[in-house]
Amino acid sequence: MTAPESRLQAAPTKPFNLATQSRHLVRHWLACGALLLSIAPSAFAWGDGGHRIVAKIADHYLTSSTRAAVNAMLANDSTGLTSTDMASEASWADRYRNKHPETANWHFVDTEISDGDIDAACFGHPPLPLNAPASAGPATACVVDKVDQFTKELAAPQTTDAERLLALQFLLHFVGDLHQPLHASDSSDRGGNDKMVSAPGIAPGKLHSYWDTAFVKQLGSDTNTVASQLIDNINSGQVASWQTQTPRDWSLEAFDIAKQDVYGKLPAPNSSGTFALPDDYVFTAQQDVALQLSRAGVRLAMVLNGAGLQMPGSTSPPGDGVLVWVNTKSGVYHCPGSPYYGNTKHGVYMYEDQAKAGSYRPAGGKACSA
Ligand SMILES: [Zn+2]
Repeated sequence: MTAPESRLQAAPTKPFNLATQSRHLVRHWLACGALLLSIAPSAFAWGDGGHRIVAKIADHYLTSSTRAAVNAMLANDSTGLTSTDMASEASWADRYRNKHPETANWHFVDTEISDGDIDAACFGHPPLPLNAPASAGPATACVVDKVDQFTKELAAPQTTDAERLLALQFLLHFVGDLHQPLHASDSSDRGGNDKMVSAPGIAPGKLHSYWDTAFVKQLGSDTNTVASQLIDNINSGQVASWQTQTPRDWSLEAFDIAKQDVYGKLPAPNSSGTFALPDDYVFTAQQDVALQLSRAGVRLAMVLNGAGLQMPGSTSPPGDGVLVWVNTKSGVYHCPGSPYYGNTKHGVYMYEDQAKAGSYRPAGGKACSA
């Protein structure tokens, strides 16, 4: 959830004063002791913690065959950008972006709070060039469309092994990013990067980094423990309802949180332009962050489980029967040969037995396999 490069390059409205920042840090360090150990001075350092938590939650909800396939695929990552375990690979796309700035826009969708126009924020949804893999798509694409594209690729039988690994790596990261409210919104402030904030016990920083990092760290310093606690609080009703929606819906849901809480509950700035966040803002933010990390983890698992992943080199399909196309919006699935196969706006490939197990219905009531 680290701020995209395009946002980082513009100068902040108020110069970042390292000396002042350090004095704040020392003071807070003395005041808060161990708490500060978890708050790094860099405005862009986190990302990793939140993404680790999302991956840990997702791992809990993976089927054993999906988990085995994911781990085996990631073991083939030779980029050296991260360790190859799933929690570390969830931050791979942030590292990759450093050398591939053409992927920077893919990490967010800057839907303006004033108009809520997600289609404009997705650059009008440019299609992939004919026969181009999603990893080579245009630079002007939003995270919603990239999640859709990589989800299709992850499951499609014709995807090459190399591209399938990339699809997995991007999805491990982008499903998390999509749930960060400030990766789903903008208020003419580069997703909160132009607003300086402060709060009791937290070093002053940018609004974006507070939601990326500071509020997540307040959930706990150990990502395994935080993930376990969040998993304990997720009930089966939530799992069921969260999985019925599409990436577009997930983004609009995060947008609503941004509108209501991230921006809606901001106090007026003080005379130096800093927004001093009161305790109730911080409390609401922690609740929101916990919910969004939980949703992201459950949905990431759904995406991965739905892809019918095989062990690399395996020739036998993991599921039984026909690979169908599930329209995740309508809940109907389509058989090979149908004009809708692979062609509805929201959908994933999965084996028919998986589709049936997921309570999806065949189009026209007619199953694909006899
Ligand atoms: Zn990111």
